[in-house]
Amino acid sequence: MSSADERPVLVTGAGGFIGGHLVCALLADGFAVRAVDIKSFSHWHQRHDNAENVVADLRLRDAAFAAVAGTRSVYNLACDMGGMGFIESNKAACMLNVLIDTHLIEAARHEALDSFFYASTACVYPGYLQDDPDVTALKEADTYPADPEDGYGWQKLFGERLCKNFGEDHGIPVRVGRYHNVYGPQGTWDGGREKAPAAVCRKVAEAVLSGRHEIEIWGDGQQTRSFTYIDDGIEGTRRLAASTIDTPLNIGSSEMVSINGLVDIVSSIAGVELERHHIAAAPQGVRGRNSDNTAIQAVLGWQPSVGLRSGLERTYEWILAQVVATHR
Ligand code: NAD
Repeated sequence: MSSADERPVLVTGAGGFIGGHLVCALLADGFAVRAVDIKSFSHWHQRHDNAENVVADLRLRDAAFAAVAGTRSVYNLACDMGGMGFIESNKAACMLNVLIDTHLIEAARHEALDSFFYASTACVYPGYLQDDPDVTALKEADTYPADPEDGYGWQKLFGERLCKNFGEDHGIPVRVGRYHNVYGPQGTWDGGREKAPAAVCRKVAEAVLSGRHEIEIWGDGQQTRSFTYIDDGIEGTRRLAASTIDTPLNIGSSEMVSINGLVDIVSSIAGVELERHHIAAAPQGVRGRNSDNTAIQAVLGWQPSVGLRSGLERTYEWILAQVVATHR
């Protein structure tokens, strides 16, 4: 897959979950990689010694320009974000991600890039289409009239349009992927930024280890989502970046499940039955969300294929090991 072009590929947010896996995949294919994140190295989920690893705050214009300088392509994954518990109570912090996106795309004007990938989200979709657990899967054309998630969703929708406008006015080959809840090993699993699959795996592991066979579930658990295994997330990202598609595409599983169903699967993987306590006041996000994959299948001939149970088996095993190590 690599070529005579020795310029590095830039991955921003490389100390994070998806970024760490993406760097790994690019290095395995022989690409030179510049990996940038604001976190100190000890907090990176993965750090690969054969990448050019940089700690920098990409909200700063100079840092963003230095990161993009001399690169062949950009994957912009850097973002101050987390699961529902984080984004519902940190809207201002989420909005400030516009600084990262603005400075990186501005810097991209000065390079001859093969592609500029922007990590967007299903949170850009309108709330008025997601108020039923039995939701109709969301397709790209559903985005407007806009009513995205307050804070995080609006910021990402702005980021998408920023990419579109810079692409059109300055010829930057932008690619926009809308991730639907990506999960897997080496993701955030505690601390308040974790998302539902990691949170459920951690709670089940803690119940198993403590012998207290109870679990707290946010809301009534009937809210639905689809969860995308990390391998599919990386594959979709790279296929989209390598394509000529300059409009946003869903990168998401279409296997919808309720949160109660998610708890059923993880409990059965762990071999326990748990008494459930539903927390009505906890953050829950929209009532239902699923990914319509008609467009990605049509234009890339591909869509996520890792089954939820199979992905959760791998994720639970990894999170159980983290919980054991932490409690040792
Ligand atoms: P993550 O939080 O693990 O990774 C994001 C990384 O960006 C973090 O390591 C963080 O330190 C870094 N970052 C934040 N501010 C920065 C700054 N100012 N300068 C440099 N780095 C900075 O999240 P992730 O799950 O790997 O998500 C990656 C991207 O995909 C994000 O843009 C996110 O919004 C998007 N996304 C993820 C999901 C998902 O389910 N994981 C869903 C939709 C969209």
